[in-house]
Amino acid sequence: LLDALIDQIAVAMERVRLAESVDEARVFSETERLRAALLTSISHDLRTPLATIMGTISSLRTYGALYDDATREEMLAAAQEEGERLNRFVANLLDMTRLDTGALELKREPIDLGDLVGTALRRAAPMIGNRKVDVAIEPDLPLLKLDFVLMEQVLVNLLDNAAKYGPPQSRIGIRARKENNQVTIEIMDEGSGIPEDALERIFDKFFRVKAADRQRAGTGLGLAICRGFVEAMGGTVVAENRTDRSGAIFRITFPLTTAAETAGAVALP
Ligand code: ADP
Repeated sequence: LLDALIDQIAVAMERVRLAESVDEARVFSETERLRAALLTSISHDLRTPLATIMGTISSLRTYGALYDDATREEMLAAAQEEGERLNRFVANLLDMTRLDTGALELKREPIDLGDLVGTALRRAAPMIGNRKVDVAIEPDLPLLKLDFVLMEQVLVNLLDNAAKYGPPQSRIGIRARKENNQVTIEIMDEGSGIPEDALERIFDKFFRVKAADRQRAGTGLGLAICRGFVEAMGGTVVAENRTDRSGAIFRITFPLTTAAETAGAVALP
C-alpha cells in the first residue's frame, strides 16, 4: 500500500512539475496539497510507533537478561500497543481509499445497538484505559439495517477521540435513543471541546484543530472516515460542544422508515 501511495505521489509531483507554467497547475495543486499532507502524516505516524517497536526489540536483544520479568512484560506491552496503532493507521488509510474510489461495499443487516456499542467498546478498550464509560441505550430500540463493521469503525474512531482529547480520569458517555422518526447515537467526552469555527472543518481530511494535536498519534482522517461511512449508510454525523460542562458531543442520526419501524427491523433509504 505504501509503495503504491508513494508511487502515486511521485507521479502527481511529476505532473505538477510539468504543468507548472500552465493553468493545469491549479488543477493539480489541491491534489498535490492533500498528497503532501498525506506523506507528512504517513512519515510521522509510521515512524513514531516503529521507532518504539524497533527500540524495544533492540534493547531486549542486547540487555534482555538484565531486565526482570515485569519490566520485560511492560516493554513488550508498550511495543504491542504501538503495533496496534500502526494497524489502525493502515486500516484508516485503506478505509479512506475505499471511500475515495467509491469501492465501499455495504453489507446491511439488522443491528442491535447494544451489541454494536459493546463490540466497539471492547475494541476501543486499550485507548479508553481507566476512563469511566456511561452507557445509556434506550430499551426497545428498533433494529437498524446498517453495516456492522463500518458502524463499529465509526464508533471506535469516536471513542478513540473521546479518550485521546479527554483527560486521563475523565468520563465518556454513550447514549442512544429514538426520537420522532429517527434514532440518535451520541458520544460525549470531558475534553476541552472544539472551537465553534472548527465544528464543521474537523470532518475534513487532515484537518486538526491545534498544532499540539499533531503531537498526538492520529492522521486527521478519523472523522472524515466517520462521516463518509455514516453518510454512505444514509445517516448524518455532526459535532457540538456540551452545554453542561466542557467537552464535545458527536451525534449520529439515522432516519427510520415508518413501515419498517412497525415491522421491527428498520430499512434505511
Ligand atoms: P485525528 O484525531 O487523527 O487528528 P480526526 O479526524 O479524528 O483526526 O479529528 C480531527 C481533529 O478534530 C483532531 O485533530 C482534533 O483537533 C479534533 N477533535 C476530534 N475529536 C475531538 C474531541 N472529542 N474533542 C476535541 N477535539 C477533537
